[in-house]
Amino acid sequence: MPEGPEVKTVARTLAKHLVGQSLGELWHSPHRLRREIDYSALGRLTNQTIDDVSSYGKVLFISANKKPALVAQLGMTGQLTVCNQKAPILPHTHIRWTLKNSSSELRYVDPRRFGLVDVCDEKTKQIVLNKLGPDPFSLKKSQYDALIVAIKNSTRAIKEVLLDQAVIAGVGNIYASEALFLAKIDPQRRAADLSAIEYQRLIPAIIDVMKLAYKNCGTSFSNYVDGSGKKGINIEFVKVFQKSGEPCLVCKTLIIRVKQGGRSTFYCPRCQR
Ligand SMILES: [Zn+2]
Repeated sequence: MPEGPEVKTVARTLAKHLVGQSLGELWHSPHRLRREIDYSALGRLTNQTIDDVSSYGKVLFISANKKPALVAQLGMTGQLTVCNQKAPILPHTHIRWTLKNSSSELRYVDPRRFGLVDVCDEKTKQIVLNKLGPDPFSLKKSQYDALIVAIKNSTRAIKEVLLDQAVIAGVGNIYASEALFLAKIDPQRRAADLSAIEYQRLIPAIIDVMKLAYKNCGTSFSNYVDGSGKKGINIEFVKVFQKSGEPCLVCKTLIIRVKQGGRSTFYCPRCQR
């Protein structure tokens, strides 16, 4: 599932293809995405010129004519890419949008259909942003204390709190496990029980693992690709995610996997006591 670094990579790569381009003809599949999409409103974006692609947490925004125009959430398996109009059409392609005066088109592919691409205006964008906690990519040191208070204000396990987008935006299953390993914190401990020193390790650890992933164009372990259709290489850099049964890189103890809130967590039982 694409997390903050993957969505930010998609935004960066899509911007290269889309900024300055005008939207042309829209085609969509009859299948329902995460919710009903207002395709007639999407169609009215024809001829508008895209001027920015950005992300916040796991949400991607495209603006046209200096105003928010589109919002995209990739859900579990969404891929938003620009490719040649003649490129083979993958199964589960739900949206194709030609670009004017170009042989390329924007495509949305999503086998699980938990994602969406829909119209967006300033008000909708604010509603989306208001539901999200701070994004580690834009977090300032002066915001650390408020974020720590928000995380500590929970009786849940620290790993589960980190997945809560209202607390911190963009952290998902990969980077929650990776950050807790880097900060040497047992993912099963209650968020409220962590010490101030542990939080002083955890917040920079979250930022570090996400910045590294962004530098590596994201972690492709299922079907994630960037806006050009390329896989990221960060899977070569993860320390614990999906490594159960392999020796910890620090102490050689075998990494274990536990289930928390229905999701797998990977950690070293010795380094993260
Ligand atoms: Zn270890």
